[in-house]
Amino acid sequence: MPLVGLDPGGLAAVLAACGVPEAQRRMRARQLFRWIYARGAADFAAMTDLPAVLRERLAAEYSISRPEIVTERRSADGTVKWLLRFADGQEVESVFIPEADRGALCVSTQVGCTLSCSFCHTGTMPLVRNLTAGEILAQMLVARDRLEEWPTGRPDRRFTNLVVMGMGEPLFNYDNLAAALRIAMDPAGLDLSKRRITVSTSGVVPRIEQCGRELGTGLAVSLHAVRDELRDRLVPLNRKWNIASLLDACRRYPIRRRITFEYVMLKGVNDSDADARELVRLLRGIPAKVNLIPFNPWPGAVYACSTGDRVRAFAAIVEAGGIAAPIRLPRGRDILAACGQLKTASQRDRAA
Ligand code: SAH
Ligand code: SF4
Repeated sequence: MPLVGLDPGGLAAVLAACGVPEAQRRMRARQLFRWIYARGAADFAAMTDLPAVLRERLAAEYSISRPEIVTERRSADGTVKWLLRFADGQEVESVFIPEADRGALCVSTQVGCTLSCSFCHTGTMPLVRNLTAGEILAQMLVARDRLEEWPTGRPDRRFTNLVVMGMGEPLFNYDNLAAALRIAMDPAGLDLSKRRITVSTSGVVPRIEQCGRELGTGLAVSLHAVRDELRDRLVPLNRKWNIASLLDACRRYPIRRRITFEYVMLKGVNDSDADARELVRLLRGIPAKVNLIPFNPWPGAVYACSTGDRVRAFAAIVEAGGIAAPIRLPRGRDILAACGQLKTASQRDRAA
């Protein structure tokens, strides 16, 4: 049985099952917690401050092994992308994106996605299940392993930030996400500050406030359109929770941090000057930042990316409205770092 994903209470229950006397359980659970999440042990034998009999008992019945790394690709710009395979054969991607003074790991929360945003490759993948808390955390452990950043909390660490923006809709797997993030944020665990964690949603309105209140993380909202008629087509979840209700939820978000609005630039679809002006009007009163994302094409996509001039003109209007609107650089193009692409390439290779 895997231990990754268990909190101190869960580990104490495991220790009870292993016969550890009640008086010792809390202390032993804390030791085990640190070994797994702060020191990155992948093997019980390394846990030298636990009694040898306990280590043997744990090794016989439990595991802290990692998912299999199917592929690891390192881009010339430093981006690293992993395709990971879990015990049941299902695969997800995670991507590490380094910047000058920090680096963000982008993790997945589902295999595939039940939503089918028309510009997104993940939405076309048939197989869907939620990841467990352990599988969400395992992506972070693999990144620390491969970046050689154990123990956690090293001042020179590059994996400093976490973005929940990989495959899947995080707020449709809220309980497992919350369990994983609590361990990720624990100073005795992966020690990632909540101020450096951002959860991206396509607009699961009833969960947004809860996410802020319970986890305290930053919020990113995949807006992509300023009119319901268009957003209904790009982000079908909009038919359930429309732009007005989504922005209401953003106004009520309890964390005092700017909300990031993601806006994928689709040529001739959502990139006009009028769209930019309407975006400024809609976001009035919300502490906001707009990330303009060049559309990342995938085989079979019906969209094209707006021209560079169009993206810059759009950005200028948003900026003139008093809202920061950085244009996101496409990272890791040479390793297919866009959402869903590596997984599909690997399946194609195997099929061939
Ligand atoms: N399901 C969540 C988080 C994962 S998607 C969400 O939708 O927010 C992460 C971001 O990538 C979203 O803003 C999504 O709209 C965007 N995205 C998906 N496919 C893309 C593509 N082909 N090009 C550019 N951005 C894309
Ligand atoms: Fe799912 Fe997000 Fe892709 Fe939409 S953009 S299909 S919500 S992963």
